[in-house]
Amino acid sequence: MKEELTCITCPLGCRLVAERGEDGSLAVSGNRCPRGAAYAREELLAPKRVVTATCRIAPASGTRRDEAAPRRVPVKTSAPFPKERVPELLAEIYRLELALPVARGAVLLADALGSGVDLVATRSVE
Ligand code: SF4
Repeated sequence: MKEELTCITCPLGCRLVAERGEDGSLAVSGNRCPRGAAYAREELLAPKRVVTATCRIAPASGTRRDEAAPRRVPVKTSAPFPKERVPELLAEIYRLELALPVARGAVLLADALGSGVDLVATRSVE
């Protein structure tokens, strides 16, 4: 079975064709460099995504009480995370209640779901 995809590793955007062998192998063509073949293999066999979301702030946390005070903390994974487990990770993220202050880059969930990927804050919130 042939599958077509576009390599997004660099701006050239090579059109890749991947063909699965009956033994489970994957032959990739159309790539101008080895990174395209690696991209196709990961995308078709074990796709990953950087996950971005926001986390709740614990009630009565933080020093600001005005209307403009932040209500959530923006977060992202420190590296691409297995796509099939993203819903499970989002459920975990939405269960969190963060105590302020939170510093940009702070690890909020280490080794999320045993993936080896951390969840980090992308903005400092006081
Ligand atoms: S295959 Fe290589 S040259 Fe082509 S888009 Fe991917 S990284 Fe760029």
